[in-house]
Amino acid sequence: MFNFDYSFLSLPKKFYSLTKPSLYKNSDMFISNDALFNELNLPINRKDELLNEVLSKKNHKQSYAQAYSGHQFGYFTKLGDGRAIIIGEHITSNKQRFDIQLKGGGRTIYSRNGDGKATLSSMLREYIISEAMHYLNIPTSRSLAIIKTNEQIFRENIHEGGVLVRVMKSHIRVGTFENAYYYGSINDLKALTKYTINRLFPEIKNNENPPLDLLNKVMNKQIDLVVNWMRVGFIHGVMNTDNTSLTGHSFDYGPCAFINIYNPYQTYSSIDHNNRYAFGNQKNILKWNLSRFAESLLPVIHENKEKAIKLAQNSIDKFSNIWEKKYYGMMLKKIGIGNNHKALFPLVDELLENMIKMNLDYTNTFTELNNDITKDKKITNNLDFIQWHKKWKKNINKFSSINEGKNLMRKNNPIFIPRNNLVEEAIEKAVDGNQNILQKLLQVTSNPYKYQNDMDEFMKPPEKHVDECYQTYCGT
Ligand code: AMP
Ligand code: MG
Repeated sequence: MFNFDYSFLSLPKKFYSLTKPSLYKNSDMFISNDALFNELNLPINRKDELLNEVLSKKNHKQSYAQAYSGHQFGYFTKLGDGRAIIIGEHITSNKQRFDIQLKGGGRTIYSRNGDGKATLSSMLREYIISEAMHYLNIPTSRSLAIIKTNEQIFRENIHEGGVLVRVMKSHIRVGTFENAYYYGSINDLKALTKYTINRLFPEIKNNENPPLDLLNKVMNKQIDLVVNWMRVGFIHGVMNTDNTSLTGHSFDYGPCAFINIYNPYQTYSSIDHNNRYAFGNQKNILKWNLSRFAESLLPVIHENKEKAIKLAQNSIDKFSNIWEKKYYGMMLKKIGIGNNHKALFPLVDELLENMIKMNLDYTNTFTELNNDITKDKKITNNLDFIQWHKKWKKNINKFSSINEGKNLMRKNNPIFIPRNNLVEEAIEKAVDGNQNILQKLLQVTSNPYKYQNDMDEFMKPPEKHVDECYQTYCGT
């Protein structure tokens, strides 16, 4: 079924460990993704074969778990795929390469005390959110299928087991480079840099300083990604360097969540006690993560350490300007203005301040503003807001037209996001055997920018007290 290659195995052995997935004899297909089968040129009429293909040991002579390290909540740790096994790199007919990974596929040499397994509900959560992200036009890992293993998984309670068939452009992450820097030789780091550039950024391979340009590329891709998260109200929740991909794709949907009421300090993760990964802190953490990436590249940027530091620092110093331009450019589009002149930035900040004061829902505020653009039916009677509204209208007329504004707003403001309460309800019912809500949720989130009749219940935020109590968990 797959057209596999194993280019990652050309790297020195310390970057991976050949590992076969566990055998799950009584497994069933729980859910599969027709659209993605098509995109990967996989035959939909042979979907049942996927079970055999992914779970039969004899098919996996070269499957592997990747080695990596990472700064988790600021602290450096040696990690590696403890419950994920790449069964191959699938090459599509138009020569695109994708890692096909089994998440929850069993123990590896990197499992430490973990069981190498995953619960059906946590894999379903990743399925729902990754696919929603894709349709929100955000680069992301994808979910091809979930296999129900019919095994018991022991956590704080007993759960059903699941294996996610995850598809990703590449699983190389900042932590892969940190691993090479801290535990490898200079030749290991050189080999990884060369492999990464050839596979992911071949356009820079003949530049004067390809490792430095790799840093710049990754910085730009990651800024685009996190700006996109800010656009749709997404909190990743565990922005450790091992979860920071070099291609700028979101992945590892553990304790992530979407915000309801706008609050830059919002976190939902049960272990993020200091709000390190809060919605509004994602920019700062990204810069911190990119600085760790820059550090790990120093020996290949220049053999003279001082020169290397100077070059890398020069790149990292550009972060704030790039961020500012991209972030405000995006936020201004959310309010229908295609110009990102500095003088317009306060218009964005003032709106966000008003939203905090009035406890407004992030997603629905922009939807209502889009309705407001032609009518004068303001979403609130608050005096500060009315003043802002006047200013906004004046700027729309100055910098765009009403039509252009509406168009920009429609493209940049989702109407449907996978709200936390709906995701939980869909998962709970689906694990109990009823996929109705799940299928409806997948339907609305696969067309998030378009109003869909009879789906208003999926636009409703949860009650404030419900949202305040909501918590997400890592590694379940
Ligand atoms: P994550 O928070 O999902 O990015 O995981 C952090 C690290 O813990 C990764 O190296 C995972 O492979 C590992 N890990 C998470 N859950 C398990 C598990 N059940 N068994 C083994 N390793 C795990
Ligand atoms: Mg991870």
